[in-house]
Amino acid sequence: MVTAAAAMLIFTEIHAQTPTEIHEKAILVDTHNDVLSNELINKLDIGKLQTAGNFDLVRAKQGGLDAQVFSIWCGPQYGKGTAFKFANREIDSLYALIARYPDMITLVRNSRELEKAVKEKKLAALIGVEGGHMIEDRMDYIDSLAKRGMCYLTLTWNNSTSWASSATDETTRRDSLKHVGLTDYGKKIVRHLNDLGVMIDLSHPGEQTFYDVLATTTKPVIASHSSSYTLCPFRRNLKDAQLKAIAKNGGVVFVNFFSGFLDSTFFKKYNDYLTVHKTELDSLTKLYNDVDLATDRLFVIHKTETDQLRPPLSLLIKHIDYIAKLIGVDHVGIGSDFDGAPSYPLGMDDVTDYPKITAELLKIGYTEKDIDKILGGNFLRVLKANTGR
Ligand SMILES: [Zn+2]
Repeated sequence: MVTAAAAMLIFTEIHAQTPTEIHEKAILVDTHNDVLSNELINKLDIGKLQTAGNFDLVRAKQGGLDAQVFSIWCGPQYGKGTAFKFANREIDSLYALIARYPDMITLVRNSRELEKAVKEKKLAALIGVEGGHMIEDRMDYIDSLAKRGMCYLTLTWNNSTSWASSATDETTRRDSLKHVGLTDYGKKIVRHLNDLGVMIDLSHPGEQTFYDVLATTTKPVIASHSSSYTLCPFRRNLKDAQLKAIAKNGGVVFVNFFSGFLDSTFFKKYNDYLTVHKTELDSLTKLYNDVDLATDRLFVIHKTETDQLRPPLSLLIKHIDYIAKLIGVDHVGIGSDFDGAPSYPLGMDDVTDYPKITAELLKIGYTEKDIDKILGGNFLRVLKANTGR
């Protein structure tokens, strides 16, 4: 005879957890999503289920997402007098979303608040400012953005600032740059971010800036949305030596899902496709007055064709696995770049697809403990190391 208590014990011992259970139990953090820019341009209400795009609060819940860093971004056409203002408008739109859906989403600034939001079953919203040009060379603007909740500053976007050079500029027009790497003022900014507990994001800065930052920072850094250069040699993916340097610093690399940063054959196929449809793209660009919107629309019209440009999901897993094997499972995470790129691997259509990552990692031998770290544990650690909480 087996008592009920003994039966329960046997049951829990032999009952292996399903991938879904492991996924739901883990705290899942995505460190990069550009939906706020789309929300502002297209006037979407991302609190409600949307048919387009990769993110809304309804789908985020379905995908088991616990925390999202929302990217605050504006292009290099915004400069002194306009960039900081635009960044604040985007932050306003996040605050407004939170005010409309207080039961679904809440702003958090540190790991303690993040874990509290998870317990309350709300999406923890964090703010990442993507591009140093938004501080307009002013320390008081850093203070102001930090006060509003900025958890990381990507020191540059594709455009350099007067104090830090970007990966794009360091690789495409190095000789014409006034400075390569971090200037003395840039070093001052790094130390100030350290003091404020704002994480330094190295996803867009060039290699020289990257190493100058690591020689200056006293806190662990992140790369909020970058993949492996060895697997896909794109200028702002991270080389093995850079990955090792981040691990040595105690930082974390969050893998970008964009097909072009995963698959080295993508850009050639993509450009061929755009050439074939050039006339159509030109007329759509005229119609929308925006080449990015036109390109997105073109993708929808030719879905069967563009699906063929997408790499398999296994390639995304390969990047995660490659980085984990090279520098350790404590230094890798997820930074999808959803709503910020034109193509993602097959099966990775939106935020409802995160559970596939957990299932695939389990299949190739990752334990529940490893997966907890990759999905969110590593982010919590690096956030806490920066904010002190
Ligand atoms: Zn980016």
